[in-house]
Amino acid sequence: AKKRDGKNGVQIFHPSMMEQAARRVEVESNIQLGLEHDWFDSYFQPIVDLNTKSVIGFEALMRMIHPQKGILAPAEIIHIAEETGTIGYIGNRILEKSFANLSELSRVPGMADTYVAINFSPLQFEPSLPVRLASLADRYNIRPGRIVIEITEAVLMNDNPEIRRILDEVSGFGCRIALDDFGTGYSSLSYLNRFPVDIVKIDQSFTRAMTDTAPEIRAKSRTLVEGIAAISRKMECKIIAEGIETSEQWQLLDQLGIDCGQGYFISRPQPVNRLQAMLAEPLVIRVEDVG
Ligand code: C2E
Ligand code: MG
Ligand code: MG
Ligand code: MG
Repeated sequence: AKKRDGKNGVQIFHPSMMEQAARRVEVESNIQLGLEHDWFDSYFQPIVDLNTKSVIGFEALMRMIHPQKGILAPAEIIHIAEETGTIGYIGNRILEKSFANLSELSRVPGMADTYVAINFSPLQFEPSLPVRLASLADRYNIRPGRIVIEITEAVLMNDNPEIRRILDEVSGFGCRIALDDFGTGYSSLSYLNRFPVDIVKIDQSFTRAMTDTAPEIRAKSRTLVEGIAAISRKMECKIIAEGIETSEQWQLLDQLGIDCGQGYFISRPQPVNRLQAMLAEPLVIRVEDVG
């Protein structure tokens, strides 16, 4: 079968396109059902201070818990939700759950000052965002300093004045801005200059490469991480390493002057009731075998 493509005439219609379309419809309908039946949750992954080993905050990661299919990860859902326009509804649901969850976790001894870092895609920057954040902060009795907005370079790319205004407003209100997946985009460094960034998150590919089997990859990526850390520090940003899976990575990052980290070595993203139980015990459990 053939299908007309707007610009350059014809295009082969692969069966995989049919499959893709079917998949889209399926995910879309799951999103609708999920919103209706409250299947969306905000899992939390602890972020720790590499030096003191204490939990300083959590990254909120969206999960859809389908009663038959189990837990669906965010990447595909978000991609499709952006295309179909449901991302705003999902985002608001996750925002609400994230505040509720942080408020729950704050009752665990030692967790009263922890923060939640919430991921935002470009389309979630609606003009109502600052007001929405302020009213949630008020309702859940969470000071704005405990809220971090995680954005990727995609949000900043076209220097959209509306997005800049919203970021400035949210930042002025006391929330902090984290630049996610740092180092993987086109011109990471220029964003540090032009936007109110408080936190730089070193992408997990760097963390992984630091313990690659090839010595030259290890050496180069360690130099890169050290450089990113030095620049971030000069820009007065806090630095978080993503994707720590081994104690060796933890130790290397700590030695290179990285402040904080998150990753499976510390904890996977979890539902908040499980995290409450886990944090009630000293977390140091697995972190203790780090020197
Ligand atoms: P991200 O913001 O960079 O989040 C980190 C991802 O790495 C998460 O994947 C997390 O589960 C995973 N991760 C954490 N530690 C480790 C580790 O040690 N090793 C490995 N291999 N992976 C680790 P997840 O939850 O599948 O999320 C994927 C992406 O989807 C996120 O990347 C973020 O860009 C997006 N996302 C997640 N939740 C939301 C949301 O509520 N809204 C929006 N707009 N995007 C979201
Ligand atoms: Mg140290
Ligand atoms: Mg993130
Ligand atoms: Mg990331």
